[in-house]
Amino acid sequence: MFIDATALTKVSHQKSNGLQSIIEMSSSFQDFVGMNKTCKFLVNNTTNPASIYDPEKQDGHLFIEISEWFLKGYSVGYITGMLCHEVGAHYMADKGISARDSTRFGRRVIANVEKAWYGEKNVVAQKSKVRDSATNWWLVPAKAKQPDHIFASCYGFARYEFYRTLMIEFASIIAADLEQGPQYTVFTDEDLKDLVDCWLMDISSILATSDSRPWGVPYAKYVAEAYAKHLALLKQDAATLTGNATIQQTIAGMGDKTTVQVLGDYGSMSKKLFGY
Ligand SMILES: [Zn+2]
Repeated sequence: MFIDATALTKVSHQKSNGLQSIIEMSSSFQDFVGMNKTCKFLVNNTTNPASIYDPEKQDGHLFIEISEWFLKGYSVGYITGMLCHEVGAHYMADKGISARDSTRFGRRVIANVEKAWYGEKNVVAQKSKVRDSATNWWLVPAKAKQPDHIFASCYGFARYEFYRTLMIEFASIIAADLEQGPQYTVFTDEDLKDLVDCWLMDISSILATSDSRPWGVPYAKYVAEAYAKHLALLKQDAATLTGNATIQQTIAGMGDKTTVQVLGDYGSMSKKLFGY
């Protein structure tokens, strides 16, 4: 894989170096992009924090677009979380989830409700609802702007597992870097927490708003509720997800968020975005 991070480096050397070490060290990222392909970062000025092009339409090359306000306003840990969403909830997950896994996880969650369920495509085609077993909320992926986002946010679903596993893999890279000593890394302990927080805020906002995330502010109470439920399950599953003590301690040390804290997060995002 060839990495072209020229556009990132122009904005921030530190953040560019951080993202490059993540993708250089991630074996699943390497497998996804492939030996002779390029992973190119682009920087734009849109309100959307980041987006990714369908690699199949780009001859297998991966183009990741990040907006400048997001790159400037957030820590490298948080930006790693965004990268994790772009690949782990979307195209890398499409490639990584086999049809069998998709069916298996789906059956486990909604067995008594939908007897014949053949994975995400059918759920969308039939406009079926799915349950996030962490919050016990029901959602209709077909109604979401991006149905993928719903599957990536419902506990136990194949796409959720894939996204969370990749988040832990990225966390392991940061943790390994930190263990080398501060002089060898661009990351700090805070970045590890930010990565986990980014993942939790992402899925909680998707669940609370059925993927209408600009509406997160009036739904802050539900974002806080989903955050607490998914954090509790992450704590419960941490020992099976990773043997790394630094990551386990980071997760164990994370607390729930109040509605006011969630509102604060949204508030600081609009400040970074619109400058007020
Ligand atoms: Zn997305």
